[in-house]
Amino acid sequence: MQETHGDGYWSAGIRRAGKLQYFAIGHLGPFHSVLTAAIHWFNAQSRLNFVPARSESAAHVLIEIGDPMVSFEGYPEPPDPLPAIQTRGLTLPSAKRQDKVKIFLPANPCMSVRKIGARPTGGKVKKYIITHELFHAAGLDEHSDASLKDAFCDGEDLYDQAGDKNAEEDSVWLKGTSGGSDGNPRNQISGLFPLNGNATAQRLNAIWP
Ligand SMILES: [Zn+2]
Repeated sequence: MQETHGDGYWSAGIRRAGKLQYFAIGHLGPFHSVLTAAIHWFNAQSRLNFVPARSESAAHVLIEIGDPMVSFEGYPEPPDPLPAIQTRGLTLPSAKRQDKVKIFLPANPCMSVRKIGARPTGGKVKKYIITHELFHAAGLDEHSDASLKDAFCDGEDLYDQAGDKNAEEDSVWLKGTSGGSDGNPRNQISGLFPLNGNATAQRLNAIWP
């Protein structure tokens, strides 16, 4: 697969400052309780720091529960709908401004569970959902094979596993690996293991020196 490295979306001035201000539009519903933890994890992985913005207009990164079918600042092509119950989000750059992106989060992320169909997922998976989108907000565009074992892994390469006991045991795993107790925990993408200078970290460092 050919990689199109659209990395480095942000202007040189913003990248030099090493900060992106974020702002949650409205209440983030099921994500409200995990946003700070996701930001904290991300900030520890790179020289970029996400910091709270005082206002929506000052923010570089807007975060909202919602459906991107509702056009974001003239985004040229309406993206696919974001199903309310899925465990993936979406990040889009503004088509009008070079200094804004928006993270869309699903309204009610769920795990499918035998017999009962679906139920809301727990904090670990929700934190992973936000974290993945923070990579995009940081300027990482395309997923690559190099990110297969970290939180920037392409959602197509993952599967969800509902916890036996409760939603807090829900997890997201690399396809082709076992999510059972004998599985390699490194393959649990929702485990949010440190990047430790891996290829994804190097891409971040190239943007945020
Ligand atoms: Zn992605």
